[in-house]
Amino acid sequence: MARTNGAGSNVAKETLAYCTSCKMDLNHIVVAMKGDRIAKVQCLTCKKEHVYKAPKGVTEPGKAKPTRKKKETTAEATATSIEAEWEKLMTSHKDAPLKSYTTKGHFILGDKIKHPTFGEGIVGKLIYPNKIEVIFRTDLKILIYGGQQQ
Ligand SMILES: [Zn+2]
Repeated sequence: MARTNGAGSNVAKETLAYCTSCKMDLNHIVVAMKGDRIAKVQCLTCKKEHVYKAPKGVTEPGKAKPTRKKKETTAEATATSIEAEWEKLMTSHKDAPLKSYTTKGHFILGDKIKHPTFGEGIVGKLIYPNKIEVIFRTDLKILIYGGQQQ
């Protein structure tokens, strides 16, 4: 009479486990059981046998680690951040009147201006005595203006 061993029935079955060598969740073959728990597994990727570790992808509630995002500081990231900054500024100044840019105009920080070539922008910096740094959608431009009012 053939009778399968209940406790050992999972041996040689595939299971997802954390591989201590590959340092990631991978499919493993169950090598040994301890009661009804998996004791030892063999990684299908690196072929190493090790103690069974639950997959890390399965996070227990309250045990999730906070994820930290690193800020990219590449030139490419800077280029795209100008547009993001511009959009943010345009949104926060959406009620501000749009001033047409002229070299004789007077502008203050935060003024919304319309430039015939660069489009709409926000004055981000005043450069003494007669220049303004304007954030346009795609670029920062230094423009000449009428100078600071006394
Ligand atoms: Zn492995």
